[in-house]
Amino acid sequence: MTKITVYEPSGTSSIYRTRSRYSIRLWSVRHSHFLEWFYNSFASTLLTLHPLWSLIGYKRIEGPMVAVEKRIKAVMFDCRMCGQCALSSTGMSCPMNCPKSLRNGPCGGVRANGHCEVEPDMPCVWVQAWQGSRTMKDGDTILDVQKPVDHSLRGTSSWLRVTSEKAAERTAAKAEQ
Ligand code: SF4
Repeated sequence: MTKITVYEPSGTSSIYRTRSRYSIRLWSVRHSHFLEWFYNSFASTLLTLHPLWSLIGYKRIEGPMVAVEKRIKAVMFDCRMCGQCALSSTGMSCPMNCPKSLRNGPCGGVRANGHCEVEPDMPCVWVQAWQGSRTMKDGDTILDVQKPVDHSLRGTSSWLRVTSEKAAERTAAKAEQ
């Protein structure tokens, strides 16, 4: 039987990342304590501005917010804009960078050097997540079970959705008083 050979570019895969990008991602994990504090301050500022977002309209603000969130988080975390950010519970290591998109811990294939079995050059995002979580104030939330990804939220702003959810919770709590 004739063996059919297909051209395969070297050093590539569907989720290939360059080392230079890992270095920023790894920096974010090393500074997870600071980034947790920064995000919490930022989130409470967004919540304080809820009346403004409501006035403009959450739908109208979504586009510009997505543009900003996407750019910042792409640089800092190699974010894929899943729309349900888990960084606060994963040591500032984005779980969507796992080639298997695992949201609740590593697979059984982590290499002895802590790298990924699919992308041998890439440190396992879950090994990184555990290390990052150990320096965070609420790092034990890494033990919480994450819901499956809702793909209908892909490409939307996590920042805005969390703000609107928290604002609704706050309004409901006030109504109960
Ligand atoms: S968990 Fe989702 S929103 Fe958060 S950095 Fe990763 S891909 Fe982006």
